[in-house]
Amino acid sequence: MSSTAGQVIRCKAAVAWEAEKPLVIEEVEVAPPQVDEVRLKILYTALCHTDVFFWEAKGQNPLFPRIFGHEAGGIVESVGEGVKDLKPGDHVLPVFTGECKKCAHCKSEESNLCELLRINTDRGVMLSDGKSRFSINGKPIYHFLGTSSFSEYTVVHIGCVVKINPLAPLDKVCILSCGISTGLGATLNVAKPKKGSTVAIFGLGAVGLAAAEGARISGASRIIGVDLHPNRFELAHKFGVTELVNPKDHKKPIQEVIAEMTDGGVDRSVECTGNVDAMISAFECVHDGWGLAVIVGVPRQDAVFKTNPVNFLNGRTLKGTFFGNYKPRSDLPSVVEQYMNKELEVEKFITHKVPFSDINKAFEYMLRGEGLRCVIRMVDE
Ligand code: NAD
Ligand code: ZN
Repeated sequence: MSSTAGQVIRCKAAVAWEAEKPLVIEEVEVAPPQVDEVRLKILYTALCHTDVFFWEAKGQNPLFPRIFGHEAGGIVESVGEGVKDLKPGDHVLPVFTGECKKCAHCKSEESNLCELLRINTDRGVMLSDGKSRFSINGKPIYHFLGTSSFSEYTVVHIGCVVKINPLAPLDKVCILSCGISTGLGATLNVAKPKKGSTVAIFGLGAVGLAAAEGARISGASRIIGVDLHPNRFELAHKFGVTELVNPKDHKKPIQEVIAEMTDGGVDRSVECTGNVDAMISAFECVHDGWGLAVIVGVPRQDAVFKTNPVNFLNGRTLKGTFFGNYKPRSDLPSVVEQYMNKELEVEKFITHKVPFSDINKAFEYMLRGEGLRCVIRMVDE
């Protein structure tokens, strides 16, 4: 047993007091884990666009003060009542969507949308008692996605904690706990392009480039990258993207441009922007008869997807996925092993590293569209 088990831990956390205001490093109190919960010491965390999106809270339910962060790696500090599968010292990745292993979705081979623990962006408290485990002078601070990894210690439901190979370097594999696995799985598990096919990727952030990596692994012959930021294009070549298109360079809708480039449309497209117009373009640029589009980006709450139903009659398919259809506890350890076996490159996604005290720099990089993933170090190396 660790000496802190069962006790409140005082530690540093980056608190978002209000939308769009820089995070403030505060001393917070982290309550011990309750039934089916574990308390984690976070060693590394990265910033994903979903954090920025809910921090901006434009068209989202604003819930503040809140501790963001969901792409992370850490070590179990202590466990709550009834926890058998995890013990202090285990190396883990917290995940924003869980796997209870008991519900109809967890039992189905076709779904990773656990009924109990699927992504919930509006809940800022723990499931067991509807309370937060974080507080400052008795005032509760909301959780985010059940993970809140922008804190030296956090409390997570066991269904959202993935035990991984303790030899895997947490400063690298932390980014597999959201963005990279999401993009990779969107292509490998959902779009499933055949060898030699043409794939369009909308949005060349970390998620989109991981989707491109999936297309490369699948043996796609053409990978067309679409983005509005020209500075994304330099990076994209490293990820097997063969052609680049910027919608700003064209007067016509981008789906028409892509259809012309590909003799009627691409075989598969994967949307990783969060912009509803890009989602519509991603759907409308797939070939009739067999084309399949996969939506990955998280849209604004009030977004409406509009397309002519004839597009469906003509044999086009539209799908969406959370976390690339991976069941986190069952499937993620093997994605970590793919990295350990050098089948999957993770390092090329990490373009920045900052200490925890500079966490706001990670937000600045993302807002400027600079780089892919910024890993935030919570411990001294
Ligand atoms: P990012 O900001 O690094 O990358 C997004 C890219 O999309 C940027 O390069 C941007 O220039 C580009 N873009 C924006 N609007 C565009 C448009 N209209 N046309 C073309 N390109 C456009 O973000 P990220 O971390 O890579 O995440 C991508 C998206 O995936 C976000 O919406 C995020 O919330 C979402 N996401 C979803 C899941 C899931 O499970 N479904 C998981 C993680 C992230
Ligand atoms: Zn479940």
